Amino acid sequence: MELNDAMLEKIRASIGAAKQGPFYKKRFAGLEPADIKTKADFEKLPFTGKEDLRDAYPLGLCAVDEDRIVRVHSSSGTTGAPVIIPYTQKDVNDWALMFARCYQTAGITPKDRIQVTPGYGLWTAGIGFQLGAELLGAMAIPMGPGNTDKQLKMMEDLRTTVLGATSSYALLLAEEIEKRGLRDRLCLRKGVIGSERWGEKMRARIANELGVELYDIYGLTEVYGPGIGINCTVQSGMHLWTDFFYYEIINPATGALVKEGETGEIVITTLCKEGAPLIRYRTHDLTKEIPGPCPCGSPFPRIAAILGRSDDMVKVKGTMIYPGRVDEVLSTIPGVSSEYQIQIDHLNGRDILNLLFETTITGAEARKALEKTVEDVFKEKLNVTPKPHAVSMGELPRSEKKSTRIFDNRY
Ligand code: ZN
Repeated sequence: MELNDAMLEKIRASIGAAKQGPFYKKRFAGLEPADIKTKADFEKLPFTGKEDLRDAYPLGLCAVDEDRIVRVHSSSGTTGAPVIIPYTQKDVNDWALMFARCYQTAGITPKDRIQVTPGYGLWTAGIGFQLGAELLGAMAIPMGPGNTDKQLKMMEDLRTTVLGATSSYALLLAEEIEKRGLRDRLCLRKGVIGSERWGEKMRARIANELGVELYDIYGLTEVYGPGIGINCTVQSGMHLWTDFFYYEIINPATGALVKEGETGEIVITTLCKEGAPLIRYRTHDLTKEIPGPCPCGSPFPRIAAILGRSDDMVKVKGTMIYPGRVDEVLSTIPGVSSEYQIQIDHLNGRDILNLLFETTITGAEARKALEKTVEDVFKEKLNVTPKPHAVSMGELPRSEKKSTRIFDNRY
């Protein structure tokens, strides 16, 4: 995005604020905010990584007097120490404001009833959906995840109009609603789906089975939480709330900015965060900028739906593969459902890419033909020959949190 003088001024202020805490005090020792005079000066600053945040455990990121912290959240991590993000009251308010703006951008109003199914607790999902709903003046129904029977009962009895969920949980609910023939008894009209990359096919299934319009909400715990961007009713990319942060898109391998419109990793600098300001934070989310103004008239810039994570990319037989691209390719093949899993193995000196996918097609012959089609299309579009395995609907795992689809068993 453009870095004009006004934005540079905000970035300088944020660097000054960040330096009040131990982490950036050390990292930017000898650097004064006034030294950042140009875009080039800013782009020389080192990135901040998740490892840095882990090293700052528990409160090394805190840039204000700890008495001013009203809440902490923690980002999920599978290895090592967790990351703790401290929030001041202003940070909580700003986050709610951004989330409420997301709902408005999706055409959600104070008349709506929002069923919140992402988890509450240390991670930021559920409470973000709730804060935004309350600020908007809508009715929040704070369910948290799980207990499908109760979810569906509440959805019917309280006449929920908006479902807030991860994509895999939305799919699970959509399948249950379809199975139980509940759809006509529900008032759902929109779904706000967060925290996970998902493909067109899965989106179409959830939208059709629930009979709703879907919106992708973007965000990460390190930068407030979900709610820092969403797609609008025109459905052409996600608007990002750049009055609260500045973003860059970089080549994940070299760290250099990509050309406009090229895919890369989004890097975020917060502009007014108090508890834990972040300067050039690497999100590892892959996306690209969508140039030009949006037909909806919003002044906020847009990025494409998240294509995957730069640390999820795998190299198989010399070709880079990332989940978003697999979704795209599979979605073009009739008979192949949105659910798939890739298992990469190494046998007799060769990489083998096992591709399991769900299909509604039954019968050994028909499945064999479908597997052949999948093999051909995959080879043509992704340059890798997979070993396809058609499985029945519902055989691959669904989860209430994030679904992992690529398993690299080679190392
Ligand atoms: Zn728009």
